[in-house]
Order: sequence, then structure tokens, then C-alpha cells
Amino acid sequence: MKAAIFQGKGKIEVQEVSDPVIQKPDDAIVRITHSCICGSDLWYYRGLSPRKAGSRIGHESMGIVEAVGTEVKSARVGDLVVMPFFISDGTCPECLAGMPAACRNRMSWGDAGVDGGQGERVRVPLANGTLFVIPKDKVTDRMMPALLPLSDVLCTGHHAAVCAEVKQGSTVVVVGDGAVGLCAVAASKRLGASRIFLVSTHEDRAAIGRKFGATDIVAERGDDAVEQIRKATDNLGVDSALECVGTAESWNTAFGVVRAGGNIGAVGVPHEVPDIPIVKFFWFNIGVKGGPAPVAHYIPELMPDVLSGKLDVSAIFTKTVPLSDIAEGYKAMDERKEIKVLVKP
Ligand SMILES: [Zn+2]
Repeated sequence: MKAAIFQGKGKIEVQEVSDPVIQKPDDAIVRITHSCICGSDLWYYRGLSPRKAGSRIGHESMGIVEAVGTEVKSARVGDLVVMPFFISDGTCPECLAGMPAACRNRMSWGDAGVDGGQGERVRVPLANGTLFVIPKDKVTDRMMPALLPLSDVLCTGHHAAVCAEVKQGSTVVVVGDGAVGLCAVAASKRLGASRIFLVSTHEDRAAIGRKFGATDIVAERGDDAVEQIRKATDNLGVDSALECVGTAESWNTAFGVVRAGGNIGAVGVPHEVPDIPIVKFFWFNIGVKGGPAPVAHYIPELMPDVLSGKLDVSAIFTKTVPLSDIAEGYKAMDERKEIKVLVKP
């Protein structure tokens, strides 16, 4: 079978690898039907975070179960499944507490001995906690791009909103117009936010944000964005600031726009960020919460709304490539020509 392999900065190759086989009784084998490239894949692609050359890649995927070990109860052969970006057991105290992203037996796709989702097939370890069946009778091929984001970005955007306590009538600022930020807009709308500012200087991304529920586009960055949002809210700021980038500038914007007593939900993987300004956090009663999304915890809640069509973020996929051309997909996302690239083996 074929799979995408990281070969060093800026270099993705599709190579022949051996077919996966069941190694443990709770393993499953899934034939990938759809996968995609994540913004976080770009960090190692750009040489900004370490990754071993020769490693399998891809952590957002869905497919059809081809084989299961004797202890797998979560899915059967032939089932359509989606898999969270972390592999988790679903049974440890952290998983039972609703935080599978901190599972005691957590693994990442593409780790040593673990397959990556950007390929034709994967072995799924801990299948009982990691496979989520999508009812095939309710799904058409056209709906697949709306379901695939359940593996990561849709749940991550939702997590930002949950951490920032978005609820009916909330005012919200989403910092970041990438796939996660756009999903955070859709998630905020779903939770009942009445006003959603999207900080976006790209007209094409802003247009998708509007479609997902953004009421105000702030085409400024940094202090200018903060000033505009402050002005629009009678200098109060907003109930919830959703930080979906992970840089010093995006954190400063989030702290700049959140009102006294409001909350910041942070899901951008932090890179070179400053310390949390404790003084501001304390004197303005600001709540700060965030981290990797507990995807396995959110899928059961979000999937019904995706199946009903109420929650459709498929517009984040602006390009589709066959697995053989995946390098082209990475390049297009690296150059910010595409928001998110879907890969079909
Ligand atoms: Zn666990």
C-alpha cells in the first residue's frame, strides 16, 4: 500500500509501505477513504518543530473498517468510522473524566510504531476508544467532507467555544481565520452566540466565516483589531475570546478584547508565546482555559448535528488532491493558497 512520508523540511513523499496487520486484540485495520492536511502539520513541514525524517504523517482521517481484533467492540468490519487526532483507550480515569486528550495510554498518529492517516490504510491501536462509527444509512458521499472535520478541527473549534463558555446570547471574538478559527465561528453560532467577530484580513476566509455565522469581520490585526472591537462594544469587550492561532500576537489580541469577567478559550498550539499576564488575569477576573481538544468526548455530541446538516463546515476544504499529489497539497497550504486540503487515496 501507499502512504505519505515526511522526509525533512518541505519534503513529503508517497512511498510503498507494508500493509498493516492486527498486532493486538484491540487493534483494528481501517481503509482510509478521506484524510486531510492540518495546520499543525505545517509546523514540521516548515522545519519549525522537530519530526523524524522517514515518519508516517496525518492525524485526521476516516474510512471503512477492514479487520478487527478479538476484543474490539466499538466497530465491526464494514463500518464507516472517524478517528480522533489522538488515540485513546476510553477507559482510564482521564478518559472517563471527559479528557481523552490526556489519556494515560495516549498515542499520536505517526509516532514510532503507529501509522499515519495520510495513506491507504492504518492499524488503529486502542480501537475501542478510538473508532467512532458513522451510521452509513444516513450518509451520502457528498457529506463526507462535513464529517471528516470531526477528527480534529471541528471539535477543536468547539473546544475553544466550550472553554470560553460561549452560550446563548454570548458576544464572541474569534482570533484566527484558519480552519480551526472558522470552525470556532460555526461552533459559537451553534451554541447560541448572538454576535461573533472574526479577525480576518483575508477576504476569502472572511466570506466563509460569514457563511458560518460571523456577524462582524475585523480586517485588522493586533492593536488595531483590539481597538475596533472595543469601539464596537462600547469599550466593554466581549464575553468570550477564542484564541485559535497560538502566537504572541493572537494571545495579546485575545487578552485585549475579552471583557472583565469574560473568558479566553485557547486552542492554537502555542509557539513562542509570552507568559499569561497574571496581573490582568487577576484584576479583570479573566478566565483562561484551553488545550488539545478532547475529540473523542465531543464526537458523540457533534455528530448528530453534522448528520442532520445543521453543522456543516465542509467549506473549509478549498482543494482536494489524490494521495499521489499530497506534496502539492502541503505546498498550497504552506503558501496559504488553500485553507485546508482534503486527500483522497
Ligand atoms: Zn484513557
